Amino acid sequence: MLGLLKELKNFGRVRANAPLAKYTTFKIGGPAEWLVEVSDNDQLVALLNFVSGEGIPYFILGGGSNLLLPDEGLPGVVVRNLVSAARAEGDKLAASAGYSLGDWVNLSVAHSLTGLEWAAGIPGTVGGAVRGNAGARYATAQGELKDFIISVTAWRDGEVVELTAAECEFGYRDSIFKHGPDVVLAARIQLAPGRTADSLAITQQIIAERRAKQARAPSAGSFFKNVFLTEWKRDPAELPERFRQYQKIAAGWLIEQAGLKSYRVGGAQVSSEHANFIVNLGGATQTDVLAVAEEAQRRVYDKFGVALEPEVMVVRP
Ligand SMILES: Cc1cc2nc3c(=O)[nH]c(=O)nc-3n(C[C@H](O)[C@H](O)[C@H](O)COP(=O)(O)OP(=O)(O)OC[C@H]3O[C@@H](n4cnc5c(N)ncnc54)[C@H](O)[C@@H]3O)c2cc1C
Repeated sequence: MLGLLKELKNFGRVRANAPLAKYTTFKIGGPAEWLVEVSDNDQLVALLNFVSGEGIPYFILGGGSNLLLPDEGLPGVVVRNLVSAARAEGDKLAASAGYSLGDWVNLSVAHSLTGLEWAAGIPGTVGGAVRGNAGARYATAQGELKDFIISVTAWRDGEVVELTAAECEFGYRDSIFKHGPDVVLAARIQLAPGRTADSLAITQQIIAERRAKQARAPSAGSFFKNVFLTEWKRDPAELPERFRQYQKIAAGWLIEQAGLKSYRVGGAQVSSEHANFIVNLGGATQTDVLAVAEEAQRRVYDKFGVALEPEVMVVRP
C-alpha cells in the first residue's frame, strides 16, 4: 500500500479514499481507492503506462459532467485529468484533453474564429467532448465536435498515437474512445475566420437559452440519446414537425408523453423543467437514478416501442 502510494506520487497529487461525488455534476459517486490528479501530459502517459503495466484498474475523470458513478466508489486509480493547455495556430485550435470545452469556445471567440459557438455552455473537458462527440443545436449555431476535428493525440496501449478524424470513428455521441481503452491526450480542430463581436453575441445568446431551459438541480445533462427517426415504427404524423425535419426524436418528448415528468425515486427525479434530465434533488444514489431511468425506458418502450439508450456513462459497481 505504502509502496503504491510512493509510486503514484511520481505522477501527480495523490489521495486515498477520495470521495468522487464532488467531482461529478450529478454529485453522486463513492470514493476512489486512489485519486491521482495529473497536470502534465508526459506524466499522464507515464501513469497510464505504469497502471496498465501493473494490472491496476484505472478510470479517467474529465469534468465529470457525463457520468453516473457507483456509490461504492471505484477500485484502483482514478486519474483526474487536469492537463490544461490550449493555443491558436492561425485558424486552428489545439488543446490538451483536460482543457475546459467552454474555455476553448472563449479562445476561439477571442481569436476571431467561428464554428465552435454551439459548444458554449457545455460543461466538461476537451477529452470528454472528443470521446462523446459532443454536440448541440440552436437556431443560431449547431454542430458536433467531429465536424471540426483535424486530429486527436491518444494513448494507446503504451504508445502515443496521432489519429485522423476518420480513425476516431465518430458517430452521434459516439467515437472509438467509447469502445476501447484509448485515452485522449489532445485534439486539434479547424475553424474559420469570423468576427469576435458576432461569435460573442451568439455564445451569449446560447448560454442564456441554456439557462432558461436546463434543469437547475445537479444532473449529468441529457440522460438519454435522442432517437433516430428510423426507429419510429408508428405514423410519423404523430410526431411534431421539427423531429421529422431533424430526423431525430427528442428523448425528453418521449419521456414527457409517457407521463414521467417529475417521476421520482428517492432523491432522483425526472426534471420538471426538462424531461430528459434526471436530477439529484439531494442525497440521490446511483440506484435511485437507475430506477428512474429504467422506468423511463420501460414506459417509453411500452407506449411507443422505442428503446431509449443512455447518453450518460453509467459506471456500475
Ligand atoms: C448541464 C449539462 C448540459 C450538457 N449539455 C450537453 C450538450 O449540449 N451536448 C453534449 O454533447 N453534452 C452535454 N452534456 C454532457 C457533457 O457535458 C459532455 O458529454 C462532456 O463532453 C463530457 O465531458 P467531461 O470531461 O465532463 O467527461 P466526464 O464526465 O469526466 O467523462 C465521461 C466519460 O469520458 C471518459 N473520458 C473523460 N476524459 C477522457 C479522455 N481524455 N480520454 C478518454 N476518455 C475520457 C470518462 O472515463 C467517462 O467514461 C451536458 C452535461 C450537463 C451536466
